[in-house]
Amino acid sequence: MKIIHSNLHFNGNKAGSNNPKEIIVHHAEHSTCSVYDIDRWHKDNGWCGIGYHYFIDKQGNIYTGRPEDWAGAHCIDHNTKSIGICLQGRLQVENVTDAQYKSLLYLINDIKNRYGEMPVYGHKELNQTDCPGNLDLDKLRRDLENGTVSNNDGYVENATVINVSSYLNVRNKPNNEIIGKLFPGERLQVNWVDSDYLGWYYVTYKVDGTNKLKSGYVSAKYIKKD
Ligand SMILES: [Zn+2]
Repeated sequence: MKIIHSNLHFNGNKAGSNNPKEIIVHHAEHSTCSVYDIDRWHKDNGWCGIGYHYFIDKQGNIYTGRPEDWAGAHCIDHNTKSIGICLQGRLQVENVTDAQYKSLLYLINDIKNRYGEMPVYGHKELNQTDCPGNLDLDKLRRDLENGTVSNNDGYVENATVINVSSYLNVRNKPNNEIIGKLFPGERLQVNWVDSDYLGWYYVTYKVDGTNKLKSGYVSAKYIKKD
C-alpha cells in the first residue's frame, strides 16, 4: 500500500505547527469528492488549503493533505495536537468500503510507527457533530489493537542506500526524531519528494529483513533511485 502525494499548493502563510498526539477520523459528507475538491472548498473558507492531513477515497487510495507538522483545520481544540484523516463518502447513509477501511488501518499504523502509540477518535467524540456518520469507531480501535493489517500491497523496491559509511537515519519528519536505520546497499521504496521538504524522500522499507514495512523520511543525498 502506498500513500499518494497530492502535490497541493497551499496559499499564504503556513498554519502553525502541529505536535501529533492523537488521530481523528472524519468523513467528507460527500460521495464522490476528491482531495482536490476539499482543498478548493477549504481555500474558499479563507484557509491556506485542505484542513485534513490525509484523505482516503472509496477505492482505498490514500492522499496527502496538509503536511503532518502543520496545524490542521478539522477539529476544534485539537488542531495543534492531532492528525486528521478524512474518508470520502456520506457515512450517515453510506458504508465505508472494504478497501477504504483497510487503507485507514494501514495509514493509522503508519502514523503510529512514526510517532509512537496514540489514541484514535472519531470527530464526534471530541466536537458536537455526527462526523464520521455510522463508522464503527469501537470496531476500528479493536481492529487496530488486533493488528490485522497487511502492509505489503504495492510495495516495490526502487532505490538503494548509497554513500553511507555506517547507517542512514530514518526520521518521522525531516530533521526530526530518528525512528529507524538503513544500511549501505539496502533496498527500499521511494514514495515521494515533497516540495515543502526539498532534499528529503518519504520512503518505505522492510524492517530487518522481515516482511514488516516501515515508512519515514531520509536525506535524499544518500538514496539512489533505479
Ligand atoms: Zn469531521
